[in-house]
Amino acid sequence: MSDALREWVEGLHDGVVRLPRCTRCATWNWYPRPVCRRCGGSDVIWLEVGNVGHVHTWTEVVQAVDTVEGLRTPYVAALITPMGAPDARIPMLAAECARIPAIGEEVAFEVTDTAAGRTITFCQHTR
Ligand SMILES: [Zn+2]
Repeated sequence: MSDALREWVEGLHDGVVRLPRCTRCATWNWYPRPVCRRCGGSDVIWLEVGNVGHVHTWTEVVQAVDTVEGLRTPYVAALITPMGAPDARIPMLAAECARIPAIGEEVAFEVTDTAAGRTITFCQHTR
């Protein structure tokens, strides 16, 4: 496992979402890459991004994907933009409490164990 993936997996193990941020220009680079997509810098710091974000896009999966075991169709997969890392889009699954999301809608997310393994799920955010 690469160092970059190790940081991601350790964050999920700890129950938090951590992402790499460039120490030179503060851009969040997700997925991890050898150099920053904005400034070309190569030093990053991994930081927790909180647990609230917005729906960037989503899709409903109705036909099982062979490479993802344990997910019962249909399910909703989305890219969520964490408020704490507005340059990033994180893939997540809708939790059972979620209704079909709207683009831009605020959601709360958490690291949880699902039938597909440890993943990040979201629900509409209620204050
Ligand atoms: Zn940078």
